[in-house]
Amino acid sequence: MPATKQQQLQYIANLIKDCQKCSLYQTALNPVPGDGNPDAKIVFIGEAPGAHEDEQGLPFVGNSGKLLDKLLNTINIPRRDVFICNILKHRPPENRDPTLDEIKVCVPYLKAQLKIIKPKIVITLGRFALNYFLPDELISRARGKIRQIEWQGIDLTLIPVYHPSAGLRNGAMLKSLEDDFQSIGKFLKNI
Ligand code: SF4
Repeated sequence: MPATKQQQLQYIANLIKDCQKCSLYQTALNPVPGDGNPDAKIVFIGEAPGAHEDEQGLPFVGNSGKLLDKLLNTINIPRRDVFICNILKHRPPENRDPTLDEIKVCVPYLKAQLKIIKPKIVITLGRFALNYFLPDELISRARGKIRQIEWQGIDLTLIPVYHPSAGLRNGAMLKSLEDDFQSIGKFLKNI
């Protein structure tokens, strides 16, 4: 019998648990492969785990995660219906930015996850996830724009928004996030 999506995702999570392709595994407490519905139509992709995520091995469980939950609530999307993960699967020390080398060696895991889940919609949170799909785009220009892309032979709707942590630091960015989630809600109602 072929492996279920859940089993395939678990296989990737096990690879991540044993991964030593960059130095981040040495300082992180836990790997954070991602979490959610293996049949999700929507996948959210952030940057990297933070302190709470590192402690619990789960994505978006700290303050950024609480804000993400709130934003999801405003458009009636239950968190259990989506899959949430990051570009990097281990926490960079002191939450520093990911390096290009770390991204390069880590993204094959994300790629494998997306190929298993086959979402229709990818919502990128912040510039690192956006630039994985659209390397030359600026988050300030791309945010809230809904576009169709072909990625690795898969047709996707890509919706970039600011990272929730930016919304926690800056009122204008929070407003943009709220507006963009309302646009996402309207878009979802019409498909
Ligand atoms: S961050 Fe990614 S590439 Fe680096 S050790 Fe963790 S899983 Fe491997």
